Amino acid sequence: MESFAVLWETVLKKLEEFYEQKGDSFAFKSYVQPISPEYEENGRFFFKVPSALVREQIQQRFYVNILDAMREQLSASGQSRAVEIVLLTPEELDQNLLSRQKRESRSSITLRPAFTFENFVVGSSNAMAHAAALAVAKNPGLGYNPLLIYGGVGLGKTHLMHAIGNRILENAPDTSIIYITTEAFTNEYIDSIQRGTIAEFREKLRSADVLMIDDIQFIGSRRADRTQEELFYTFNTLFESERQIILTSDKRPSEIPRLEERLLSRFNNGLLADISLPDYETRVAILRSKSGFIKELLGFSLEIDDEVFHYIASREESNIRDLEGALKRVIASAKLNKLTTSVDIELARVALKDFFSEPASKAVTPALVIRTVCEYYDVREDDIMSAKRNKEIAFPRQVIMYILKDMTDYSNQKISESVGRGDHTTAIYAYDKIKEMMGADPTIQDQISDITARIRE
Ligand code: ADP
Ligand code: MG
Repeated sequence: MESFAVLWETVLKKLEEFYEQKGDSFAFKSYVQPISPEYEENGRFFFKVPSALVREQIQQRFYVNILDAMREQLSASGQSRAVEIVLLTPEELDQNLLSRQKRESRSSITLRPAFTFENFVVGSSNAMAHAAALAVAKNPGLGYNPLLIYGGVGLGKTHLMHAIGNRILENAPDTSIIYITTEAFTNEYIDSIQRGTIAEFREKLRSADVLMIDDIQFIGSRRADRTQEELFYTFNTLFESERQIILTSDKRPSEIPRLEERLLSRFNNGLLADISLPDYETRVAILRSKSGFIKELLGFSLEIDDEVFHYIASREESNIRDLEGALKRVIASAKLNKLTTSVDIELARVALKDFFSEPASKAVTPALVIRTVCEYYDVREDDIMSAKRNKEIAFPRQVIMYILKDMTDYSNQKISESVGRGDHTTAIYAYDKIKEMMGADPTIQDQISDITARIRE
């Protein structure tokens, strides 16, 4: 398509002739010539006019002719479509651009070009998800809807999701695809309520041909309560018009905390495609395929011994993101050492000495648990250690003991001592008590899982 500026140039020439013949050249030159084409959005052409006064004159005297000339020119180049002209003063234009940029930077983040099917290594751990993703990319909206890609962290969920989007755009470049994380969705929703722009927010989501929401497990967070409702209605609108929804989650839908029943049943109506930890061969294949990118990224040109891939892949419990991280580290260290021969396993061993021995998760200590629980219930740490026995203090104290027993190997004695108690039965009692409360009251259960999640963060 020819650009807006080129289009306008042609239109302007025609208009000039037209007004010359009418003997209105002077007015044309003073009002129409100074306006400048700025940008186009879905058939709306935005122009800059010098002032509101000029705009008024244009609207009264020239608007219809400009519109006709634009339409004519567009249909001459094979693009008959609805045209709208918007005239903005410089101030209004700034405002407009600002909010447009903001909109663009927040959602519909462009798809990552490297996350394609071509770059996705298929093994038994992801074959089923890969096949489902391909099917959806081929016939969006008509098969599995929603498609929910489920699997642990760093196993390729986001990659597959973007691959679907990239493939759809290859086949049909005009498809409107919205990719948004659940967190951004929640933020935008809350934001739009506060600003009174909820109608726009809805309109944007509901006009998508393909809506992708990443990490939907976060919809279970307390902040997202009303978002669930919004999501439900968005889903309904999209389903009814056979548009595609794709979700990822690192939890099974039934395990997403606080997920509303009606959403759960929506999720279960589609296809759940899971990705598990890749086997050894797949890990090696992925590392080989990644090495090209990483070398390019780091500006490195030497060969890498195949043994190095095998060495890194031998880490059974690693997710793919971690494996990639390890490979990056090896290549970076080869670069740093100004290596002149190929990268071999000795260098890999040295480079990964610390990397591979790092504990998988951070240590859970009494100090960390106490701090997190106190922040959560908004109580003071020294009150926890004090002799106070009122409910506001005693309850968080018991929660601390429960979590310590649950998440660490500490003895009852040590757990009791860590909250300033001397008797090991205190910890046993607290554990049973909280367990019982959780059984009786789901909100307590939620609180404990929120706190546990924060500790693990
Ligand atoms: P998730 O969203 O599941 O946490 P990502 O999709 O972000 O994980 O994947 C993490 C990294 O692993 C990305 O760099 C991705 O390209 C890579 N990756 C995952 N699975 C594969 C695969 N099968 N083939 C190639 N690269 C993969
Ligand atoms: Mg992801």
